[in-house]
Amino acid sequence: MIPTSFDYVRAKSLKDALKAMGKSTKVIAGGHSLLPLLRFRLAQPETLVDIGQLRELKGIKRAGGGVKIGAATTYRELLESTELKALYPLIGEVTEHIGDLQVRNAGTIGGGLAHADPAADMPPVMLVLDATFVLQSKGGKRSVTARKFFKGPFTTAMKPTELLTEIQLPAPAKGAGTGGGGGGVRELRAGGVGIRAGGSRRADHSRQGDDHARGPGIHRARGHAVPRPCGCEAGGHPGPGGADRRSRCGVRRRCRGERRHPRFGGVPDASRDGGRAAGARPGARPGGVVRLDFSGAPEIAAPPAEVWKRLLDHEFVASVAPGVESVEPIDDRHFKVISGFGVGAVKVKFQLDVELSEVKPPKSLKMSAHGKAPGSGVDVSTTLEIEPIPPNRSRLKWSATSEVRGTVASVGARLLKGTAKKLTEHFWDTFAARVGEGARFK
Ligand SMILES: Cc1cc2nc3c(=O)[nH]c(=O)nc-3n(C[C@H](O)[C@H](O)[C@H](O)COP(=O)(O)OP(=O)(O)OC[C@H]3O[C@@H](n4cnc5c(N)ncnc54)[C@H](O)[C@@H]3O)c2cc1C
Repeated sequence: MIPTSFDYVRAKSLKDALKAMGKSTKVIAGGHSLLPLLRFRLAQPETLVDIGQLRELKGIKRAGGGVKIGAATTYRELLESTELKALYPLIGEVTEHIGDLQVRNAGTIGGGLAHADPAADMPPVMLVLDATFVLQSKGGKRSVTARKFFKGPFTTAMKPTELLTEIQLPAPAKGAGTGGGGGGVRELRAGGVGIRAGGSRRADHSRQGDDHARGPGIHRARGHAVPRPCGCEAGGHPGPGGADRRSRCGVRRRCRGERRHPRFGGVPDASRDGGRAAGARPGARPGGVVRLDFSGAPEIAAPPAEVWKRLLDHEFVASVAPGVESVEPIDDRHFKVISGFGVGAVKVKFQLDVELSEVKPPKSLKMSAHGKAPGSGVDVSTTLEIEPIPPNRSRLKWSATSEVRGTVASVGARLLKGTAKKLTEHFWDTFAARVGEGARFK
C-alpha cells in the first residue's frame, strides 16, 4: 500500500528538527518501524521530520561514571562501542540478536524506545540499567526515567512535539554483571528478562519461568512477556497477568523452538495456540478478531420525547461522537460516516455504513455500523432503550457489541479494549449530558 501524502523535512540540525515538530508530525530515524505503519496508513502524519542523519543525536560519550547515548545512534554503533562493551555488556548481548544486519545498520536506539513495542528488546534493557531519557521540544528539555517513560503498548510519556534526544545510563554498580538463565542471551530475548546484580553479591541466575531473582541489588525487567516493558524486582512480577501472559508469549514461543518474536519474523503456529501468537493478545479470537461488549445507562435531564428527537438527529449525534469527520444521510435510516480512530501508534480512518432499524418511537431502536479502513474492519451493533423517569427525566440504556478485525485488531489489540470502552462510554455520556443541557435551556 502507498502512504498518504506528507511533507518531508530533512532536519539539518536539532534546532531545525525541533522547529518542525508539531501535533501532526512524525519523526523518522531508521524507519524500520515507522515505514510499515505509513504504508498501512496506520500513521498519517502531515509532516515527516527526518532525524536519522543528525550528528547531534549520534554517538556514545562517557559522562561521570556512566554514558550518554544519542537517540539516533544505530544498533550497529552500539555494538561497535568499546565503552558499552566494558560498562554494560548486556547492551551488546541483546543488540546482536536484534533483527538482521539491515535492521541493526539503520535502526536506532531512540526509534526502538520511542516506538515502545512491548515485543522490542531494548526497553527492558533500559529499565534494568536504570536509564533516564532526555526529551526535548522547542520549549526546553526534561528528563524522564525509563520506568516512567513506558506507559503502555506503543505509548510513552513523550508529547507529540517532543523528541527523544539522549539516553543517559548511570555508572554500573561495582561488580555488576548480567546473565540469563540456561540459554543465556537467547533466553533473555525469548523471555525478555534482564538481570543486573550489584554490590559484591554473586550474580544470580533467573531462569525463564522461575520468578525469583535472588539477592538485593538484582534488577529485572520484562519486555514482551507483559503488555509493556516493566521493571520487576526480586520476588516476582508485580503486574497483571504475570505467569499467564508469560506462558502465552515467551515460554510458549521458546517451547516451540522459535527464535524470534512473531512480529519480528518468527512463525506463529496458530493451530497450536488458537491464533494468539499472531498478536499475543488476551481475549482475542483466532484470525485477528477482537470482540468487545460494553453497556451503560446514563440518566438524562430531559423527557423521553426529547431524547428520542436527539437520537434521530444525525447532526447532533455526530457532534458528540468522538472522531466523526462527516455524516452523509442516504435517507432517514441510512448514513455514510467517516470517522477517525486511534489506538496507540495506530491511527485509521473508517468509512462506515450506519443503519437505524427496529425503530419503535419513542422507546427503542438499533443502530448498526459496518466499517472498513485499509486492512481493517469493524461491525458495531448498538441497542438503545429510553426509559421514562417521572416526572421529567429519562434513562438511556445502551449496549454495544463490536467486532474489530485486521490490522487494528492485531496491532492495537492490547490497547483496543480500554480505548474503545473509554470512547464508547464517553460518547453516550456526552450525548446524555448535551441532551440534558439542551432541555434545560428550552
Ligand atoms: C525485519 C525486522 C526485524 C526486527 N527485529 C527486531 C528484534 O529482533 N528486536 C527488536 O527489539 N526490534 C526489532 N525490530 C524493530 C526495530 O528494532 C525497530 O524498527 C527499530 O529499533 C526502530 O528504530 P528506527 O530508528 O528504525 O525507528 P523509526 O522506524 O524511524 O521510528 C519508530 C518510531 O519512533 C519514533 N521516533 C524515532 N526516533 C525518535 C526520536 N528520537 N524521538 C521521538 N520519536 C522518535 C518515530 O516517530 C516512530 O513512531 C525489527 C524490525 C524489522 C523491520
